[in-house]
Amino acid sequence: MSYTASSNRYEQMEYRRCGNSGLMLPAVSLGLWHNFGDIDSMDKARDILRTAFDHGITHFDLANNYGPPPGSAEKNFGQLFKADFLPYRDELIISTKAGWKMWEGPYGDWGSRKYLVASLDQSLKRMGLDYVDIYYHHRPDPHTPLEETMSTLDLIVRQGKALYVGISSYQPAEAAKAIAILRELGTPCLIHQPKYSMFERWVENGLLDVLEREGVGCIPFSPLAQGMLTNKYLKGVPTDSRAASHRGNGAMEEDQVTPEKLDKVKRLNVLAEQRGQSLAQMALAWVLKDPRITSVLIGASKPEQVTDSLQCIKNYQFSSEELALIEGILR
Ligand code: NDP
Repeated sequence: MSYTASSNRYEQMEYRRCGNSGLMLPAVSLGLWHNFGDIDSMDKARDILRTAFDHGITHFDLANNYGPPPGSAEKNFGQLFKADFLPYRDELIISTKAGWKMWEGPYGDWGSRKYLVASLDQSLKRMGLDYVDIYYHHRPDPHTPLEETMSTLDLIVRQGKALYVGISSYQPAEAAKAIAILRELGTPCLIHQPKYSMFERWVENGLLDVLEREGVGCIPFSPLAQGMLTNKYLKGVPTDSRAASHRGNGAMEEDQVTPEKLDKVKRLNVLAEQRGQSLAQMALAWVLKDPRITSVLIGASKPEQVTDSLQCIKNYQFSSEELALIEGILR
């Protein structure tokens, strides 16, 4: 059935300015790392994308290697985009990345000009797009000069293949250096994509300060710790969960659902109930409470998870007592 987006979609979302740029992003964005590969149901994938956009989620995040197999998430997204979202292209922010291994040989990994240019050309073809809105270097490369990687991002913007550029998983000092090089080249760094959740706090030790000082946005990935910070593992590991699915490519495995983690999750869940939120909503709200965060980048295996998670924007205020309780649980 053909798709028409919900007419009140923009009333349901909050939009935040991305650093000092002109770009606003939804407070909740959707990532396609998992659940959009060739091993997944395309009907469900379609429902997830439609549900997200119907609720004002205007940003879809991809990478060359998402699937499995690598490349299949971009290819499947391209088909769904063509069927449903072509009329809405100018209402969407679509990002992709390169930096992890994508093809055999010396030119399909890391951060060389050769890899980044070739990979984006492949991504555009798979997705059926003329340009992406944001192109990221996916992880730092200790061997390629930062000047080469950053000047390639600048080149790609000048070629019209990306509107903005970003970096992912760069530590504070190397992020500051990358941001300075890009500024010098005349293509400001729009955004940084780090892993950040109640269970993963490294960005609090310097990175967020750098981004604030430099006027760069921040879009944390895996804010639900791949599903751990939800109520789904409270009674064991469901067979349809990510932890039980052996998806590979960095997806969590069952042995990561440890009794220590579960104990914390149970106590956080009690607090979430007291706040009138699901645990997913509270975990996302806890990340969004910091104004330096532009958007939380969630994943979803069902449309209902999207509608549950995005309610986090209804309450991301925490009292000092609540924050202290959370610190006590996470310690
Ligand atoms: P999350 O931490 O949001 O985990 C998503 C998973 O949590 C879902 O697949 C689902 O698990 C579960 N879930 C989500 N919402 C709910 C809910 N309301 N109730 C119960 N369970 C829920 O994010 P991801 O780890 O998926 O990462 C999000 C995005 O971040 C990726 O798609 C990608 O775009 C980006 N990313 C970037 C990386 C980088 O290096 N830059 C690395 C990793 C991710 P289940 O599938 O078990 O149902």
